[in-house]
Amino acid sequence: MAEQIQENYKKVRETIDETCKRIGRKPEEVTLIAVSKTKPLSDIEKLIEIDVNEFGENKPQELRDKFDNVNTPVRFHMIGHLQTNKIKYIINKAVLIHSVDSIKLAQAIEKEAAKKDIQVDVLIEVNYAEEDSKFGVKKEEAVNLIKEIASSFRHIHIRGLMTIAPFVENPEENRPVFQGMHQLLLDIKSQNIDNVDMSILSMGMTNDYIVAVEEGATMVRVGTAIFGERDYNLT
Ligand SMILES: *Cc1c(COP(=O)(O)O)cnc(C)c1O
Repeated sequence: MAEQIQENYKKVRETIDETCKRIGRKPEEVTLIAVSKTKPLSDIEKLIEIDVNEFGENKPQELRDKFDNVNTPVRFHMIGHLQTNKIKYIINKAVLIHSVDSIKLAQAIEKEAAKKDIQVDVLIEVNYAEEDSKFGVKKEEAVNLIKEIASSFRHIHIRGLMTIAPFVENPEENRPVFQGMHQLLLDIKSQNIDNVDMSILSMGMTNDYIVAVEEGATMVRVGTAIFGERDYNLT
């Protein structure tokens, strides 16, 4: 089983590399985040054995506990919705917060970051397809939110955009979402907003990461294809 996880990771990485080559991108432009949420520390450590360094978690306490207990330091990304009262758990532990979608959340991050005198890298989460079930700012509102955060909070550094595309049978259905996100990133980048760099585009999961890479993702977040199905009935 442990070796299976390593094989799965290599397979996903190879698929990304091949996709990049096929469309003329450099494989090193795409970071693969192994989404380890709900999975035990031992699964993470199996990947550390083969030098994997980027992991994704969606629950603040779980990120904190894994960060504190893992046998070798690695980079943990906060990819899930964040409540303001839980920022303190991850503020100096997550390398990147992918899910900033309101001024209120940014303000709370600013407050915790200022206390620790650190600079926090974040992405703005966009609910591109405007699904009721999802967090994220509407695409039309992204620029204004970014301008407001960038001008108000000096402990926050906006590095790019993130989206969770709809769950679809055929990943091709999400191509317009990924294309639209890439265009939005370029549009915002062209505005050269102070204290904002639009260098990261976080999109693509197990079901649709190939299409996301084809459309310009620089970070893909893959869980199931690496660690297997998640069992939420444990514990
Ligand atoms: C769980 C999760 C993923 C990974 O999903 P898979 O379909 O298992 O690859 C990616 N991004 C976010 C925000 C998640 O919560």
